[in-house]
Amino acid sequence: MAKKIKIFIDPGHGGSDPGAVANGLREKDLTLAIAKALKKYLEQFEGIDVRLSREDDRFLSLAERTRLANEWGADIFISIHINAGGGTGFETFVFTNASSKSVAYQNVIHEEIMKVMGVTDRGKKRANFAVLRTSRMPAILTENLFIDRASDAAKLKDPTFISYVAKGHGEGIVKVFGLKRKSGAASKPTASKPVVKPTPNKTTTSQPKQSKSGDQVVRAIQAFVNNYGFGIAVDGIAGPQTMRALIRVLQTELNKQFGRGLVIDGIFGSRTRAALINLRAGASGNLTRVLQALLHIKGFNPGPFDGVFGDMTTAAVRSFQRARRLSVDGIAGPQTWGALLG
Ligand SMILES: [Zn+2]
Repeated sequence: MAKKIKIFIDPGHGGSDPGAVANGLREKDLTLAIAKALKKYLEQFEGIDVRLSREDDRFLSLAERTRLANEWGADIFISIHINAGGGTGFETFVFTNASSKSVAYQNVIHEEIMKVMGVTDRGKKRANFAVLRTSRMPAILTENLFIDRASDAAKLKDPTFISYVAKGHGEGIVKVFGLKRKSGAASKPTASKPVVKPTPNKTTTSQPKQSKSGDQVVRAIQAFVNNYGFGIAVDGIAGPQTMRALIRVLQTELNKQFGRGLVIDGIFGSRTRAALINLRAGASGNLTRVLQALLHIKGFNPGPFDGVFGDMTTAAVRSFQRARRLSVDGIAGPQTWGALLG
């Protein structure tokens, strides 16, 4: 079984700490309601574990919240809050020195929440908040309207609106990780039969256009793996879903071209490792594309994502090998593949 994506949801405040209070509403109740509805929404999707920092009205320190997420090894931390101070609308935060992944996740999730809320967009911001600073995974904090603004509070009193807020958070998470809906038939990958024939000598098969955020080449890579029927999100974010899909493509191609008989499970285990081939300059095709995709994701520019193992791809393999202290020969052998996939 593939490793599950761990989603940690943190409903702000609780217990002796009500958060902001106004218009007959308490922040701690609203954040818990949104978090619970979000968990429920995410239960429609497979391949994930969802945890809440609290499931009821109790006090948790900020340090305790991130400790729970860090010890669990969450893949994302989302803290849910309601704003106060006289403004109106929605905003999100990442840490002042946020990782590029945090920012990429913020971009996607912010946009999805804005789509369902239809309120003033106060923007994607950065702040030195404790839960963002001390969490060791991509972390985002959302401020969902102003409890002390009558028109915002009226919305927050409406359970339907709360469910939309939760859905917006959920849609964002689904997009970030390329989650698939639970449903018997659709959930099993049919990777042994590529939907589209390999097109080794053409330039990229995708016309990325879904999202302005993320990385163009990563979007091309995601469109390429989707040619195999994996249906991952084309969002330009090279997360766990993209890596898993690339391993599935690798397994599919090793089976098809070399009769390896691997299980297409997206896990780089000992059998897949043993089935790898040496790939070198002059090669072309979809295995070369997988190699180029991995080099790009690791930060080594292999030239155009075109499936042609030319000078630039060779140079990228050599740089990667040097960086990882492997023998530098420009050939993608088991050691190099292992370092790229491990
Ligand atoms: Zn708060």
